[in-house]
Amino acid sequence: MPSHITAHDLTFEPYLGEAEIAQRVKALGQQIQQDYEGKRPLFLAILNGAFVFAADLVRAVGTECDVAFVRLASYEGTASTGKVSTVIGLDFEVKNRHILIVEDIVDTGRTLHHFMAELQKMEPASVALAALLYKPEALQHPVKIDYLGFEIPNKFVVGYGLDYDGLCRNLPSIYQLVEIEKL
Ligand code: 5GP
Repeated sequence: MPSHITAHDLTFEPYLGEAEIAQRVKALGQQIQQDYEGKRPLFLAILNGAFVFAADLVRAVGTECDVAFVRLASYEGTASTGKVSTVIGLDFEVKNRHILIVEDIVDTGRTLHHFMAELQKMEPASVALAALLYKPEALQHPVKIDYLGFEIPNKFVVGYGLDYDGLCRNLPSIYQLVEIEKL
């Protein structure tokens, strides 16, 4: 992996390599396979960022499963309701299914906190979360991560599906923002 990369106006340095990510994702897949054997889970991958993680994770799970991709859109509701989030593209019946949400990164937790509440209303048999990355220092809304790849510091990361203003999603490994004073 190159030592530094630039995207738009920012510089990033290597953080998690391809082999390390692959090993961790494989282990998560094996754990999920054990836990969901015979349950035909429905993987719900959240677009756009989770597409790479989801592709590797589902291939590491040998049990029968369904895979769907959803996009979450949030908009400001009325003053009394605050932020409202809607799910786009969920064309599977969720009721009585074992749902496994696949997310790239849990930062403040806002996105997933709202989405999981929405999902519960659809009466699934169970809901669990697989997240590749988690920034504990940034968390503001409680989110329970059942299958976690890596805990990381509160710094902006790109690659392996994660973008900076559209760029870097195609990088096979993960890079971390270089603080200006370090350059
Ligand atoms: P949350 O709702 O947990 O604050 O934010 C989750 C979403 O914010 C992620 O799905 C991701 O799209 C974006 N995000 C949060 N932290 C990062 C980061 O370090 N890098 C990138 N590229 N996106 C991030």
